[in-house]
Amino acid sequence: MNRDEMLERLLGEREPWDMVVVGGGATGVGVAVDAASRGYDVLLLEQSDFGKGTSSRSTKLVHGGVRYLEQGNISLVMEALKERGLLRQNAPHLVSDLAFVVPNYEWWEAPFYGVGLKVYNLLAGRYGFGESEVLSREETLARLPTIKTEGLRGGVVYYDGQFDDARLLINLAETAVEQGATLLNYAPVTALTRDAEGFVDGVVARDLESGRELRANARVVINAAGPFSDAVRRLADPALPGLIAPSQGIHLVFDGSFLPAGAAIMVPHTSDGRVMFAIPWHGHTLVGTTDTPIEEATLEPRPLEQEIEFVLETAGRYLRKPISRSDVRSVFVGIRPLVRSGDAKNTSALSRDHTIHIDPSGLLTVTGGKWTTYRNMAEDCVNQASTLARLPEKPCPTRNLNVHGFHRQASKFGPLALYGADALLIQDLARAEPELERPLHSALPISEAEVVWAARFEMARTIEDVLARRTRALFLEARAAMEMAPRVAELLARELHRDAAWQTAEVAAFRKLAQGYLVQ
Ligand SMILES: Cc1cc2nc3c(=O)[nH]c(=O)nc-3n(C[C@H](O)[C@H](O)[C@H](O)COP(=O)(O)OP(=O)(O)OC[C@H]3O[C@@H](n4cnc5c(N)ncnc54)[C@H](O)[C@@H]3O)c2cc1C
Repeated sequence: MNRDEMLERLLGEREPWDMVVVGGGATGVGVAVDAASRGYDVLLLEQSDFGKGTSSRSTKLVHGGVRYLEQGNISLVMEALKERGLLRQNAPHLVSDLAFVVPNYEWWEAPFYGVGLKVYNLLAGRYGFGESEVLSREETLARLPTIKTEGLRGGVVYYDGQFDDARLLINLAETAVEQGATLLNYAPVTALTRDAEGFVDGVVARDLESGRELRANARVVINAAGPFSDAVRRLADPALPGLIAPSQGIHLVFDGSFLPAGAAIMVPHTSDGRVMFAIPWHGHTLVGTTDTPIEEATLEPRPLEQEIEFVLETAGRYLRKPISRSDVRSVFVGIRPLVRSGDAKNTSALSRDHTIHIDPSGLLTVTGGKWTTYRNMAEDCVNQASTLARLPEKPCPTRNLNVHGFHRQASKFGPLALYGADALLIQDLARAEPELERPLHSALPISEAEVVWAARFEMARTIEDVLARRTRALFLEARAAMEMAPRVAELLARELHRDAAWQTAEVAAFRKLAQGYLVQ
């Protein structure tokens, strides 16, 4: 994946694209994979970096959603459980099974959650992960040695999937390119063009690196801008009523000592009636999330003080080991692109199903849903987009399409496991330049070779691209990430032919951004 090549392809295209996708998150990149693998000509434009929006800021679960089962949304759960199975099949280097324990402190909880989680497993059918089980008090403590013991009766264990969201996104972008799609980051769509009859027939964008205006004609434009979908719709008609009710969720990240035995905790009912997770992730503990309605989406949402307090307080109720603000290694925030419903009282009651909406201008918006169901959303979207654009019908092959990096035994690559088959190439790179084997920082197992790899082959353009999404340093250890920044800038400058002034400005910009991931 090379940005100069992508730009050249875009500039060289004389025919209208079959589809132009606005937005490089899970939804947009999923659509690009689907469209390209069917044989359509597809261009995707992302205003910032791939995954800068919600798609790098999830809870990292590939799941059916136990909560939706409780809400009675069986079809959503079944669809998501099937997609969970397909994702593990197609990207085994990034999706793994994880044991979740629901600790029980009341007599009714074991039978209640025991039966509920059996049903959850049954709904997965042949896409099932491990069997759920009721645990004794001792078995619960063996899996969750740091849990509060006072009043603990036992627990229920069930299995779901876990992944690295930003890494999957980058691998999907690579898959799309391999299938023939053209993808460009740092290219915001600023206007939509219309044909003589008033239908949207293309986009105007800007290349943020050169400042150059880009134009692309399309048979259909697909708006996959997530929480920003209404802003893109209003490029066609500023008077359109909003489709999205944005709601933010935060996660706090701690070191790994809070969950030493490798199982996750699932709290089915917090004091505000939501689900909360504490999950082992990249040797750390990730706790979240919240569901706070917000007025407007921004690219760098900030946690509210009450959200931080709420997560700390809920974690403190279940963990024996004291937990406080000073333990927080990073805080990150994502915005759900939920679809509005006239009578919903709060955003946690809004549907997590996906929506495909076509405006009178012919602009197609695909939004809602969740990471787990991105493939199915994309299939549905491309079916409708090809009909709208009167393109020849072509079958969707993504159920059995391996994601870039596919490798069944990637764990043997140690800290490079997440790269799947690419791990071998990163090892070669380090072998050719042994100084690149050096870790960037003692706090995390990230090598300099990964920076070079990200710049050469994964379209990373900034320190943030490397430390937030190609690796997850910023999300795991914000302070250490700030310390890594100067060396990352040096390595990037060498790869991308940037000068010293660029390096200084990049380090300053990254440190300012990373301040927002610290809890003071
Ligand atoms: C806190 C939280 C936890 C979650 N946890 C899970 C989970 O564990 N499992 C799960 O399955 N799902 C989860 N989800 C849901 C999942 O993350 C989202 O459904 C999914 O990431 C949405 O992807 P998207 O592509 O629609 O939006 P985004 O990822 O936000 O992508 C939209 C992109 O459009 C770009 N864009 C906007 N305007 C323009 C423009 N004018 N030109 C070009 N580009 C533009 C943005 O920069 C952005 O990158 C969670 C969501 C949240 C908020």
